Amino acid sequence: MKVSQQVRNILQAAASGIRPSREDCILLLDFPEFSPESALLRATADALSRARFYNHAMLLAQIGIEIAPCLADCQFCSFAESYTDLPSHTMELDEILLHSKNLTEHGNLHSLFLMTMHTFDFEHLLQVVQHIRKHISPQVHVVVNIGDFNLAQAEELRAAGVNGAYHVRRLREGIDNTLQPTARLRTVEAIRSARLDWYTCCEPIGPEHNPTEIVDQIFESYDFGCFQNAAMRRVALPKSPLAANGQISELRLAQIVSVVTLAGLECKELKSIAVHEPNALGLVSGANCIYAEAGANPRDTRSKTEQSRGLGLLDCEELLLECGFSTLMLPDQKYVTISARDIVPHSGTSPSGNQPSD
Ligand code: SF4
Repeated sequence: MKVSQQVRNILQAAASGIRPSREDCILLLDFPEFSPESALLRATADALSRARFYNHAMLLAQIGIEIAPCLADCQFCSFAESYTDLPSHTMELDEILLHSKNLTEHGNLHSLFLMTMHTFDFEHLLQVVQHIRKHISPQVHVVVNIGDFNLAQAEELRAAGVNGAYHVRRLREGIDNTLQPTARLRTVEAIRSARLDWYTCCEPIGPEHNPTEIVDQIFESYDFGCFQNAAMRRVALPKSPLAANGQISELRLAQIVSVVTLAGLECKELKSIAVHEPNALGLVSGANCIYAEAGANPRDTRSKTEQSRGLGLLDCEELLLECGFSTLMLPDQKYVTISARDIVPHSGTSPSGNQPSD
């Protein structure tokens, strides 16, 4: 089997800790996902990621706490105001609390995410955070996935008990929706300035996105020092205008996850790599993190995603085990074994043989 020497050189350099350049990453994405070059890329990223994170996975969960026609009007989202037919709904505090307890009581969750529409009631969100903070383990991090906000609000969120925020300057932001890329990046600066963990992602990837724009977004995330990076493919929702472009395959997504992994080799803030939606190919190509989901989900046509596309915690744990992960990272350098499952991981030596020191 012939594999490009240029690709071999890039991957050998990566194996010794040197991150590929922007041009290298574009080259890696220029190969078809079924090529030998892509297979070697995925294997290399998998090995390097498992060594970097000591073969520990991270399990996260998100609750979408409201649904409304969203003025950002993202042409791939089930809540876009120009075509959504989902009824508006704000989850009651009791229901949010019930989900929060169910998702955190097993002691295996690193962070609980709360998601709103682009426009949201900031005071209400603070109340929700303060309420669930009283009832869930202080060990679990709380992360918000909300619209744009400023530094003062970021500091208020932190004071209320929020540890991090998911925020993205999306692919074709301002073209496929009504938002301004500069406003998105200002929010990222507020997140970083308030010392919140910044979770981000290369998303929402469709077949029309070329390697250059994908790599630009990946590098931007590392330039700002993300706590988590990821890759997410766009789901072709039947009523969304961008569904006409189709979807990329999970194999192509895995190739992009691998580039996210290698491009992050020198990012000191990076603590995990996720793949959305959860799937095995991503988890054996550099990703070590997946999310369970409940409530609203922009990739779902049903308002309670836990009854539809969203995976539960057990589904996620089983998927992680199938992909060779048997321990989960928790905040503050703690770890827990995935337990009470039928699959017994092979007890060979871990990629590093060591535990993290920082
Ligand atoms: S992806 Fe988020 S910002 Fe865009 S329309 Fe959906 S809810 Fe609004």
